[in-house]
Amino acid sequence: MATPRPIRSMDPYAEQFWAYTQKKEFRLQKCCDCGKFRWPPGPTCDKCLSDEFEWAAMGGQGKVLSWTTFRRGYFPEYPAPHTVIVLELDEGPLFVAYPVDMEVADLREGMTLSLRWTDGQDKYGEYNLPVFGPVSS
Ligand SMILES: [Zn+2]
Repeated sequence: MATPRPIRSMDPYAEQFWAYTQKKEFRLQKCCDCGKFRWPPGPTCDKCLSDEFEWAAMGGQGKVLSWTTFRRGYFPEYPAPHTVIVLELDEGPLFVAYPVDMEVADLREGMTLSLRWTDGQDKYGEYNLPVFGPVSS
């Protein structure tokens, strides 16, 4: 059984993102008209208002912009302290995840982290969750 996690916010666009994660494909919506990535996914480009998009494969690396540690528990599945990071993916979009395979004290602004997958399950089913850890040497 996969790891229980808080219930995902689901809509027809999020559903497509999570379907790719079942195959461990990390894809974000990209506008076909102006090329802007959009995350979270949605029906319309917030730059050019186009509703045309593709699911572009991400390379799986990004730089740490910032992080925060929650010292209060908000979800039983994520007991405090729980640290989340904001990454700027190599392709440009910002992505919130949590760090794995490293100590929080070792996080540095601008450091490159790379994609890992961990499993998850909620009322919508099983999926893989993108998380980020040190670039393997
Ligand atoms: Zn656009």
